[in-house]
Amino acid sequence: MPSQSAKAASPRSLVFILLVLLACGFVATSLASYHAALDSIRDSIVNTELPLTSDNVYSEIQKDLVRPILISSMMSRDTFLRDWVIGGEQNTEPMIRYLQEVQSHYGAVTSFFVSEQSKTYYQAKGVLKKIDQQAERDVWYYRLRDQEEPYEINVDIDMANGDRMTVFINYKVFDYEHRFIGAAGVGLTVDAVVQLIDQYQRRYDRSVYFVDTTGRIVLTGAGGGPMGARIGDQLSDVEGLEELHSKLPHPKSGNFFYQEHGRGHFLNVRFIPELDWYLLVDKHETGAVAGIRQSLYINLLICGVVTLLVLVLVTLVLRRYQARITALATTDSLTELPNRRGFELLANQAIQEARRSQSTLCALLFDLDGFKLLNDSHGHLAGDAVLRGFARHLQQNLRQSDIICRWGGEEFILLLKDTPLDAARQLGEKIRQQTATSAFNFAEQTLHTSTSIGLATLQDGDDLQALIARADRALYRAKQAGRNRLCEESQ
Ligand code: GH3
Ligand code: MG
Ligand code: MG
Repeated sequence: MPSQSAKAASPRSLVFILLVLLACGFVATSLASYHAALDSIRDSIVNTELPLTSDNVYSEIQKDLVRPILISSMMSRDTFLRDWVIGGEQNTEPMIRYLQEVQSHYGAVTSFFVSEQSKTYYQAKGVLKKIDQQAERDVWYYRLRDQEEPYEINVDIDMANGDRMTVFINYKVFDYEHRFIGAAGVGLTVDAVVQLIDQYQRRYDRSVYFVDTTGRIVLTGAGGGPMGARIGDQLSDVEGLEELHSKLPHPKSGNFFYQEHGRGHFLNVRFIPELDWYLLVDKHETGAVAGIRQSLYINLLICGVVTLLVLVLVTLVLRRYQARITALATTDSLTELPNRRGFELLANQAIQEARRSQSTLCALLFDLDGFKLLNDSHGHLAGDAVLRGFARHLQQNLRQSDIICRWGGEEFILLLKDTPLDAARQLGEKIRQQTATSAFNFAEQTLHTSTSIGLATLQDGDDLQALIARADRALYRAKQAGRNRLCEESQ
């Protein structure tokens, strides 16, 4: 019994081991390729995508902003402008013409000069107003006057210009003795930059914005900055970026990684000295990783399906082989009749049934006569052919319920369930006659044989061995009585 259960368990454990091996192998390779893809995506974001965006935006901003800085710088050094101020701002006309020229020639939105002496605000359209130290909108002038740097860039919504975002380049103007005499410069829209930023944000799902050295967000795309931040917001108020500003000056450029609501972000920072601003390009990991995560799931699904298919196939093949091995182990290969092992299983069952139902069980034991001689005179293969032929005879006379077996050599047994002795005798006689009158053909030889038969019925207290011993005794008597006959031992 234990050996049987061990035998039954082994194919199952083989399938289980196979399942574990396949699953581990598939999961390991899927995860390895997922991580490799993840690394290469991260690598390409950090080392290629973000720097490239930064380069493009930088070159665009250079076109948009650096040129106006140069123009404003030239205005601040312009001898006409300085001479006119030093001369007492006599006639506004040449100044207005000068500002008109600058504006139209360089395609600026506005050009202006504010005089320190008269506090007059001149622009291309004419004299705009007097500036007022108390007025909120003129604060920039006093800030510029008091600062050390020669100019500042001020991003403002220009209300006179359809709410477009306008960048003012405010340049200090000095006389020839280096006394401060006013502020000059141009204003321009940064539409091209904003468009570019928007395009990057939309197409590549990344955030592009500018921050000044105080950590204030100064320029974003039309849709705003990171996590909905707006121009004027402090970087330290943006979730995940609280610490960033303190790190920004050192180093001025570099890559950062931060998290917001559990989402990882890659951030490329570049300092633009001409503007004194930082250009930040931000890409969150989720979008980039979603694709490979999806392919990981598809991979795992395919692996699961393949594992299942392999398992089903292996189980089917194993079952088939098991069935075949069992059949081989219980079948005689020459006659294809059940062998002794196969017979014993069925015969013991039949004996139990017969006992339970009190029915008659008969055994017919056959032994071919003079078979040794047949073998000796016609050859072993001829003997085999006769054995096969005789087995066929037996099968032709079988009922569904009868149990047949090649007992060994040229001996066969038939167990007839629920069969009276008379019927068993008749069947035995029929087979005996058929055998004696049949010609068995082999290699153009015609062979003849006969069979002696021992018939016995199951008696109370008989087991299989006793029943066969009884039939064997009857057979012995048949042989003794001259062969080719049926003898019975019913007692
Ligand atoms: P009898 O039964 O009439 O007394 O004589 P016998 O010659 O048949 O008796 P015995 O049992 O001595 O001989 C049986 C022979 O059957 C001997 C053996 O070589 C042969 N034999 C057993 N198995 C096979 C087999 O598979 N193929 C062939 N060709 N011969 C077999
Ligand atoms: Mg024999
Ligand atoms: Mg014999």
